Amino acid sequence: MSNLFYQSRQPRPFLDRGEGIYLFDVDGKRYIDGSSGAMVSNVGHSNPRVLAAMRAQMDKATFGYRLHFRTEASEALAAKTAALMPEGIDRVFFVSGGSEAVESAIKLARQYALTQGQDSRWKVISRFPSYHGCTLGALALTGYDPLARPFDPMMRDMPKIAAPTTYLDRDNLSEEERGLKYAELLRDEITAQGPDTVLAFIMEPVGGASTGALVAPESYYGRIREICDEFGILLIYDEVMTGAGRTGKFLAAEHWGITPDIIALSKGFAAGYAPLGAMVARNDIVEAVLDSGGFLHGFTYAGNPLACAAGLAVIDEIERADLTGNAARMGEVLKARLEGLMARYAFIGDVRGKGLLLAFEMVSDRDTMEPLPTALNAHSRLVELAYERGLIIYSRRTRGGITGDHFMIAPPLIITEAQVDEMMAILEDALDAFAL
Ligand code: PMP
Repeated sequence: MSNLFYQSRQPRPFLDRGEGIYLFDVDGKRYIDGSSGAMVSNVGHSNPRVLAAMRAQMDKATFGYRLHFRTEASEALAAKTAALMPEGIDRVFFVSGGSEAVESAIKLARQYALTQGQDSRWKVISRFPSYHGCTLGALALTGYDPLARPFDPMMRDMPKIAAPTTYLDRDNLSEEERGLKYAELLRDEITAQGPDTVLAFIMEPVGGASTGALVAPESYYGRIREICDEFGILLIYDEVMTGAGRTGKFLAAEHWGITPDIIALSKGFAAGYAPLGAMVARNDIVEAVLDSGGFLHGFTYAGNPLACAAGLAVIDEIERADLTGNAARMGEVLKARLEGLMARYAFIGDVRGKGLLLAFEMVSDRDTMEPLPTALNAHSRLVELAYERGLIIYSRRTRGGITGDHFMIAPPLIITEAQVDEMMAILEDALDAFAL
């Protein structure tokens, strides 16, 4: 028995070291990190430039409490981050992870509403399915029953609208009409809740673990922004998974030219080199809250210089090696290869995603998109078959409100075409073993 406990009893080998897209266990077995951990390791493992920057910071100071000192690392990272955000979204608040970034966004939004005399606004509408974090505030916004339901009595009930799972729809609408149809669900919900009670709407621009790289039709994004504006509701983009180049742009929001009011970042932002996240907000929102006496929020470790030095080096590396561009290019190659699998495996019903945030879904019937029987346990079986063969992929069993098996393929953004081939060969081998 180990004193350390994890979320489940599934035993895993001891990690020895990482190098680029590969991880090695203590027995020397090599794994391709096909999901960048949990869509984290965007610049790959053991990047020498990032490690050198961290060493240099370590030799100076690893911690200075943010209420006692400014640090060059945190100021420089804030400036760099702001420069990568849409115009006007330029105030940065550091945290140590994605849930903290989402919590911070909700609390900033609420405090801002209070400064505007809008005390009645407190509801944050989110989507179902969705994932926004495991702290109780972020979990209240998370549309994923297995994780959230046990804690219902301990959380405020927050309204949710259906995420645009258009790949399941069998109607005669055009893609554009479908996008608008799903966006209008937000207007309906705001109206049902009472517009003066709604504070914000939060969404993952490309769905993460809960929906399996769900991309909405183009029309969805602009209409959601319009509806938020119409009712004076803040639009929060949870870019914890999609940010830092993952989808082929630094922010996924750039694909549709959307300017959210608040953005949550983490995961690829420090790419696994340090626990780091950020909440980035509209300048006037932050000014109003600071004028009202300060932001009533903060985490002890937030913005520590070591984490910020890591984040700064990671973003420098994303820019230096054009990893965002590589994510777009390799994303095309990999997506085409995954789509090619549909001809070979009848049980692959859908391939989706953007850049290197890709997924495929397994079904028992491609026409009806009927999911595989739960008893087949496909999501964990395929993951294990790949794992045995030295490929790590990430799966979840959920889709548009009902069960279904999807698999996220999201390697580090440094991946080469030859490595895509290497990864696909292992995946196909695992799929062959699954099909037998
Ligand atoms: N938001 C999104 C979109 C995520 O994917 C995650 C993590 N999977 C979180 C928030 C929570 O991040 P963390 O686990 O770092 O708290």
